[in-house]
Amino acid sequence: MAEKRDYYEILGVSRNASLEEIKKAYRKLALKYHPDRNQGNPEAERLFKEATEAYEVLRDEQKRKLYDQFGHAGLSGMGSQGFGQAAYNDFADIFGGTSFEEIFENLFSGAGFGFGGSTRQRSGARRGADLRYNLEISLEDVYHGKEVTIQIPKEESCSDCHGTGSEDGKLDSCPVCHGSGQIRRTTGFFSIAQTCYHCGGSGKVVRSKCRTCGGTGLVSRRKTLSIRIPPGIESGTRLKVAGEGEAGYRNGPPGDLYVVVQVKKHPIFEREGVDLQTKVQVSVTTAILGGEITLEALDNSKVKLKIPPGTQPGTTFRIRGKGLPYMGGTGRYGDLLVEAEIVVPKNLSNRAKQLVKELEAELEQNSGIFGKFGFR
Ligand SMILES: [Zn+2]
Ligand SMILES: [Zn+2]
Repeated sequence: MAEKRDYYEILGVSRNASLEEIKKAYRKLALKYHPDRNQGNPEAERLFKEATEAYEVLRDEQKRKLYDQFGHAGLSGMGSQGFGQAAYNDFADIFGGTSFEEIFENLFSGAGFGFGGSTRQRSGARRGADLRYNLEISLEDVYHGKEVTIQIPKEESCSDCHGTGSEDGKLDSCPVCHGSGQIRRTTGFFSIAQTCYHCGGSGKVVRSKCRTCGGTGLVSRRKTLSIRIPPGIESGTRLKVAGEGEAGYRNGPPGDLYVVVQVKKHPIFEREGVDLQTKVQVSVTTAILGGEITLEALDNSKVKLKIPPGTQPGTTFRIRGKGLPYMGGTGRYGDLLVEAEIVVPKNLSNRAKQLVKELEAELEQNSGIFGKFGFR
């Protein structure tokens, strides 16, 4: 066996290094040489083990003292048993409060191992998934607001077994991991814990499966919910209904339901924020002579619109307060914007043609307006 290197030398710290300095040095080496980051590199593995061993000794006041006094000989007989594990348990400490598992999950893109096992893993409880429900509403619904009843298919905690999945409420310790929720993979000196494939990390298995839910602890139901759509809501708004998502796994908290509101296209009105836009047909004679037309607003009220003489195609009139309500029940409303479309009559009678010709002649004589553009 090759001679063992000095522990201080391995970590690259002085003999009177503080515990903080030792931790820092080890952290650096552990991240660099971790076997999952250096797969198929026995040299990295060796260095990782070496650093872990050095750290394991130097972090322990008593062991450090023995080592300082007697060197490696002072520790012989203690064996290497427990070194790796103790070091792992201390990882959270080294990495400044964040769990080692989390850091390494990021570093090694979740290579599928967990260290020590957090309480979350131990209990096996998981938050339920969020649900999304797409709700189409009309522009009239936006105007008035609406109480909508929706039905969502949903997994709920089984009431017969209270979400445990067990017929008699009894759970056995998982035979694969013996209740720890983890399986240890030991490679020489250090060991890595993996979530147990059999119990999913909960450490428990159901003795006899609940007949209602088949042992999953979850049942599918359709749930009816009443959702209040506030007036003035924007298309694409997500309404959160807390706790109405999928049930949690093994009595974990439920997820949330998000109702995503889409406003259907309206045949007459187009929305522009709180304003509404529409087009209205104006006869050519009304456009010329002026007049009044009546149109129906979104709230079915009749609105009179004055068309001034000489109204040009595309002229937009603003009718105040006939748009959509502002959000939040302020009592304020946007405007209705009405664009005039001038309708030119077709298939004129002979008399009508005659009158238009007379009109043309009259206009030409007065202002030359048509002649100017080379009409005729
Ligand atoms: Zn059940
Ligand atoms: Zn297990």
